[in-house]
Amino acid sequence: MKAPSTLNLPSARVTVCPDCSLILQAIVPLPHQIAVCPRCAQQLYRYRHNTIQKAMVLSLTGLFLYMPANVLPLLSFSVLGINTHSSIMQACLRLFNQQQYVLGVTVALTTLVFPLLVLAGLLLITLGLSRQWQAPWMPRFFRFYHHLTEWAMTDVFLVGVLITVIKMSHMATVSLNAGFFCLIGLVVTTIATQAVTDHQLFWSLMDAQDTLRPDQKMTATAATEQMPNASGFLLCHSCHKLLPAEYTTQTGHDRCPRCGHSLRPRKKNSIARTWALLLTACLLTVPANLLPIMEVESFGVPDRSTIMDGILYFFREGSYGIGLVIFIASVLVPLFKIIGLIIILLSIHFHWHSWLRHKAIMFRYIEFIGRWSMLDIFVITLLCALAQFGFLSSINAAPAAFYFTGVVLSTMFAALSFDPRLLWDAAAVAPDQQ
Ligand SMILES: [Zn+2]
Ligand SMILES: [Zn+2]
Repeated sequence: MKAPSTLNLPSARVTVCPDCSLILQAIVPLPHQIAVCPRCAQQLYRYRHNTIQKAMVLSLTGLFLYMPANVLPLLSFSVLGINTHSSIMQACLRLFNQQQYVLGVTVALTTLVFPLLVLAGLLLITLGLSRQWQAPWMPRFFRFYHHLTEWAMTDVFLVGVLITVIKMSHMATVSLNAGFFCLIGLVVTTIATQAVTDHQLFWSLMDAQDTLRPDQKMTATAATEQMPNASGFLLCHSCHKLLPAEYTTQTGHDRCPRCGHSLRPRKKNSIARTWALLLTACLLTVPANLLPIMEVESFGVPDRSTIMDGILYFFREGSYGIGLVIFIASVLVPLFKIIGLIIILLSIHFHWHSWLRHKAIMFRYIEFIGRWSMLDIFVITLLCALAQFGFLSSINAAPAAFYFTGVVLSTMFAALSFDPRLLWDAAAVAPDQQ
């Protein structure tokens, strides 16, 4: 696991931007300061006080709230004396009962499994760090933690609950139950755990061989001196450990000595995989928007509606704000993700030099907003579980829900497959040099 002493390890005072490969000179940190890459505007470091203790307390609080938030009823609907109520867990089971298995698995993973793993994982890691364990599972698990935070969507689900309340308040008496308030607590603590976690410090503490000690971390925009020899380093995609370029050839190890992630100068087949996933998303967008996404059955008469019908319903009812939120999350966000990634891929193909910084910022924005497209799916999940009033009225998921989930997942995977450094690599090479 250790790098041989013959290897010339990168200096503790040098760091590399993970998004554009700019070599930066590190400086001694100052509290309450943020370091930003001067080329691509990526935030490289942000000072966080008492990070381990805060993350431990918040993850423990989140775990206490996890069970009541998921098991206790969230909402109750009442129409002409018929009462229905549902918890998050019952809403997931309802999707399986309706044979919506892809939807059921996606909702169960993003609202039940991943949020639990995020909180439990962070609690174990902070416990390990505070007690100075050197367990090999800790860096491995922390690597997965990074990915899980993106896929744990309790915050998106909570917004879905609020939209469901507003949507149903026109047709039923809606009551908020204990599960709803626990869910708010769970979302607040989960967001707070991620805000207080100092990833760089955590990685440094897990790595006894790390050359970058916590007290030497770079901060502030003053750390902007560009160094020569940018190809002399290999940066781990996952934990951002800096290694000499010849590390894999000289040691025979093709994995990061700190987190175990495979070491490559750039993500494997990044462009081809991103194109394939984008193409999949484009194809799925057609049935997702043309087919009905929801079926409302009133007095035995089915009425099917598409995504756009649902949006227009809010505008007709005068709920312009909610209509706009659903329109942005279900129509504009998927469209923005697909068009944005296509512009970035074309820019690499044709070696466009202009607007590189803006395209890098746009890519980070695409990564950030990707999960919010699940909003409509969560609203449908809740309606399927709650709006069940027998012969009077019932709501079920229709085929487009499956295709729309496919669009969200394929665009999220497309953003994950893409390596933003390729944008800068392509701009550095003139087309006639190819
Ligand atoms: Zn950068
Ligand atoms: Zn690593």
